[in-house]
Amino acid sequence: MRAHEDLVVSRMSDFASNASKPLVLVVEDEAALATMLRYNLEKQGFRVEEAADGPEALTRIAETQPDLVLLDWMLPVMSGIEVCRQIRRRPATRDLPVIMVTARTEDQDAVRGLNTGADDYITKPFSMEALLARMRALLRRSNAVPAKGQLTFHDISMDLAAHRVQRGGRPIHLGPTEFRLLEFFMQHPRRVFSREELLDAVWGPDIHVEPRTVDVHIRRLRKSVNATGELDLVRTVRAAGYSLDTEPV
Ligand code: CA
Repeated sequence: MRAHEDLVVSRMSDFASNASKPLVLVVEDEAALATMLRYNLEKQGFRVEEAADGPEALTRIAETQPDLVLLDWMLPVMSGIEVCRQIRRRPATRDLPVIMVTARTEDQDAVRGLNTGADDYITKPFSMEALLARMRALLRRSNAVPAKGQLTFHDISMDLAAHRVQRGGRPIHLGPTEFRLLEFFMQHPRRVFSREELLDAVWGPDIHVEPRTVDVHIRRLRKSVNATGELDLVRTVRAAGYSLDTEPV
């Protein structure tokens, strides 16, 4: 299990503690239902963000990095299915837990929802107890890729809450883009990402910049992370992209 050798992910798992309240994005076009969900979820110790349609949901996800998405099936502009597909297509949100909320009772639809990448579904009308049980089960399962906490790879550690990075105990200072780049790499160690994938994940899908911009920030990241004589952990894969790896070639 070489992939896990260097990766130690610890997290703030206590739902009850204020500092680590999980953030839920409620994507729901029925305002009354969204308000009811917010009220009940906040009462249960979650933080809540809302979006009323698909494009807004994708923007909110990029901005707020929720721990879980409650996604209504029937949405204006873009269906819940399409939103889910887009969440799964983007490297940064590939592992984001999604519960599809459907008003339909046909099993076929639910199965379609799961096929597009939803982790679970719940059919309206549902009880808060049933919803909370599903949410908690899903959050427990998704612990491996935390939105916030500590990331460690080789001799680099990142404290996401405190915004601190160290290599071998030496503090490393990164610009905001380099910080997000490193965070993304550390969440997916040893996986090679193309410039386009990195732009999508780190800059966001709606930001239009030249793929070459990625090279500039990779260079800066390298310079900050690698002190003289240290192993270069940022790997360049010709014609493919970049990864975080202990084997440079
Ligand atoms: Ca709806």
